[in-house]
Order: sequence, then structure tokens, then C-alpha cells
Amino acid sequence: MNPPRTVAEALAAARALGVERLDAHLLLSHLLARPRSWLLAHGEDPLPAASAEAFAALLQRRAAGEPLAYLVGEREFHGLALRVTPAVLVPRPDTETLVDWALELLPHGSVSPSEPARRVIDLGTGSGAIALAIQHRRPHAEVQAVDVSEAALAVAQDNARRLALDVTFQRSDWWSALKGQRFHLAVSNPPYIAQDDPHLAALTHEPLSALTPGGNGLLALEQLIQPAAEYLLPGGWLLLEHGHDQGSAVRERLLAAGFLDVSTRRDIESRERCSGGRRPG
Ligand code: GLN
Repeated sequence: MNPPRTVAEALAAARALGVERLDAHLLLSHLLARPRSWLLAHGEDPLPAASAEAFAALLQRRAAGEPLAYLVGEREFHGLALRVTPAVLVPRPDTETLVDWALELLPHGSVSPSEPARRVIDLGTGSGAIALAIQHRRPHAEVQAVDVSEAALAVAQDNARRLALDVTFQRSDWWSALKGQRFHLAVSNPPYIAQDDPHLAALTHEPLSALTPGGNGLLALEQLIQPAAEYLLPGGWLLLEHGHDQGSAVRERLLAAGFLDVSTRRDIESRERCSGGRRPG
């Protein structure tokens, strides 16, 4: 195919490769640093050869399944523009269910001076999406986040700096570096896809360690639940994202670990997506 000479030809080339119209628009507006509305009004504008080549390369990568978020380096999550790289899972709208539940459990505004700030921990923070969304909506909370991956922590810290959100980051394999600390609320979107889930085979561009713990997919969820009471204040909550078919397994494990008020919430597609409970006291 000849390189596209105009904006309209570039978008036609995307169609020919089977790249979705919205993705093609977002890639081209990223490349030209123009809003989407500009593309629509300037179809006949000539496209510089360098842009045409760069766009063709991005289209090839998108057609091969690379997430759009990695190609443009950014993804919106719960109203925040987050930078993402292949070192972190691309934040998904499913996870907004977890954030909304966390926000319900945290008071709006400042608590009375006699009460301590609500202490929140996000375990396996990746891009920082959950921790940053909570800190953004609850500026009086004291939000911490951990990840085992230094590369992920660098992305999360960069996001916190860009968004001017005061989340504290630390390297930790789940709870291991948090000995002696107690939180009002712990949240996590751990790897939970089962090793033999066909869905996993399609997710080759994201870090495998963020997607699956191996086996039946429950290992990381168990590692989070089992010691959780030791790190929660009396009455503190643990909220976990999980696979659509793992709700009953996660509720069972929460109940076995002594949690109360155990329940599950559904994501925007109405699949069981998050379960949580409260430590007695
Ligand atoms: N929800 C993601 C997916 O199924 C997986 C995220 C995760 O394992 N935590 O694509």
C-alpha cells in the first residue's frame, strides 16, 4: 500500500488493517498532537511523510494486539490521566468498581482533629491507579501503595508526581514490608487469571506477573487474605478484585479468615468482580 498522503487516507489505511475507528483516531491525534475533532475537520489536509510512516508503524502494532494505552503512553482511570508503560497492567474500567467501594468506606472531607487520618494501603499498585484515584477523591486520607516490581513503582511514582497526589510508595511483596503497620482499609487488584484460562493467551503484551499467579489463579488472593487481619485496625476493611467466576471462592476464604460483612460487587458488565469484608472489632 502507498503511504497515506492525507488525514483521510491515513484513517482509511487503519480501516483496511481492521484497527477500530476510535483507536485509529486516538493514535493519529496523539501523533499529530491535535484533538480528535481536528482530524474530522481536516480530512483533506496533507500528512507529512514522517507522520504517515510513524502512523503506519503504530497501526501495525495495534493490529498485532498491543494495547492502545501503551502506544499512546496514557490511559484514563476514574477521571485521572495515568501514564502507562509495558511495566504495568493497563488500568481497566472493571477496577473502578473497587475504587467506588473504597470511597464509600472513607469519609468525605476532614475527620475531626481527635480522629486519626484514615490509613489506606493499595497492594500491587502497578501504575498506581487505585491508590491515586482514592487519594484524589479523599485528600484527607493517608494513602500508601506497594508493589514488588521496581519498574512498576517508578511508573506509579511518576504518575503521583504529575498528578500532584501525595501517595507514599514502597517496594513490598504483598504485606511483607508492612510489618507493624495497621490500616483502616486495604485494597488490591492482584493477578488472578488461572494459568489455563484461554483469555490469558490473548494478553501477551502486559506483564504476566500482573495477570496470573499461576495455577487456579487464587494464590495471590490467598496470600492477601490470610495475614490481612494482622495489618488491619479493628473494624478495618479488605477489598479485593477477582475473576468473574472467583466470587464464591474469595468469599469463602474471607469468611474462613474471620471477616464479617463479607459481600461481592459487580463490575459495569454485571460480572462478580470485587469481594470484601471487615475485620471484627
Ligand atoms: N481484569 C484483567 C483481565 O481479565 C486481569 C487483571 C488482573 O489479573 N488483576 O483482563
